[in-house]
Amino acid sequence: MMRAAVELISIGNELLLGETQDTNATWLSRELAAAGIAVARRATVGDDVAAIRDVLGDALRRTRFVVCTGGLGPTRDDLTRHAVAALYDRALVIDEGWVSVLRERYGRRGMDMPEINRIQGEHPAGATLLPNERGTAPGIVIDDDHIGTTILLPGVPSEMQWLMHAHVLPLLQRRFTSTSPIESRVLRTAGLTEAALAERISDIAGDAAPLSLAFLPQVAGVDLRLTAADATAARAFDRVISRLRERLGDHVYADTNEDLAAVVGRMLAERRMTIALAESCTGGLVGKRLTDPAGASAYMRGGMIAYANAAKQTLVGVSGQTLATHGAVSEQCARELADGARRRLDADVAISITGVAGPDGGSEAKPVGTVWIGVALRGRTEVKLFRLIGTREEIRERAAQASLDMLRRLLLAHAPRARA
Ligand code: ATP
Repeated sequence: MMRAAVELISIGNELLLGETQDTNATWLSRELAAAGIAVARRATVGDDVAAIRDVLGDALRRTRFVVCTGGLGPTRDDLTRHAVAALYDRALVIDEGWVSVLRERYGRRGMDMPEINRIQGEHPAGATLLPNERGTAPGIVIDDDHIGTTILLPGVPSEMQWLMHAHVLPLLQRRFTSTSPIESRVLRTAGLTEAALAERISDIAGDAAPLSLAFLPQVAGVDLRLTAADATAARAFDRVISRLRERLGDHVYADTNEDLAAVVGRMLAERRMTIALAESCTGGLVGKRLTDPAGASAYMRGGMIAYANAAKQTLVGVSGQTLATHGAVSEQCARELADGARRRLDADVAISITGVAGPDGGSEAKPVGTVWIGVALRGRTEVKLFRLIGTREEIRERAAQASLDMLRRLLLAHAPRARA
């Protein structure tokens, strides 16, 4: 049987101008996939009657079921209703029932309803209104045997989401029988490029069917995403994931969307270890990420942003001689930063990062992207040289990720302590 499919249209000039991010489309795609309904296409269009009509008309000819968001407000620039009425060749009429609901809501707060709000009851004749408890614009469903079905939802994300859960998903489930969720799983990897990863798992990728396997490279590492189009395919998840895990070993750090810092934080907490940081070129990125999870106080002692040489000396205790002889971006400096941070904050573990993030400041011996990372773990301090590529932002992000991954690998060798 063919999978139920719909198209999505996001309406609003602010979306085309890039002033508002189209989070509605992302959210709707995810909810629909979970409900087993494929999104065949997505489009974005400005507040323009002809343009909305064109895009909607094309979408309906292809898919016959379209969900639109935005442009239902009471102001002049909210033109979605007009465009849809024109396309379906229906008059716009006002639902006095909805207008009374709004008048009553205003009344309860001791206010008169602004007359402009009458427009919120306006809809193409014969359409069904979906009452909106979170705002003034109801959802609108327009059905036509020849043209297809269009659902209009307001652009405000919280209202759109409420209407989807309260009305639209139940309607879709009645309309499209036998849908099973489109499920996906993720494996997050660190320390391998996309090409190296692809090479290593090429045979597994080759027979992952009925699952589809996608490589999602990001600055911080490559995610592998497996998708099952239906419940039968979903049975293959365990088999393929265990083969991937076996092949990739400790390159895999999560099988959820969890950040590497959260994984490291949990590993520290399980081992009852505390951490301190001395960050130079990353300017606190590692500290920020390690303190993102609630409960970070279980492991996080603190950190120093030791950017200038003087700060490396006074905050962390790097020796003037080290800086004079080897420079700030050096193995010796990274080692003293890690040791100093761990000692000064009385932590079990410390991370240090010192490097050249660019775009200026590189030299032949220490080009942009040269980053020394230290990890002090109880009595031992490991220091490694990384040669990272990319823009300043990417180098900083890669350095932060590399430091967390280095610590994660060292922690793997330390079993969690048994509970007292
Ligand atoms: P209402 O009738 O409740 O006023 P509306 O249908 O008129 O809603 P818009 O005027 O288009 O909606 O947008 C209202 C708000 O929702 C704006 O702040 C806008 O930035 C935001 N918004 C609109 N479309 C989207 C979208 N696709 N993703 C995220 N936010 C959106």
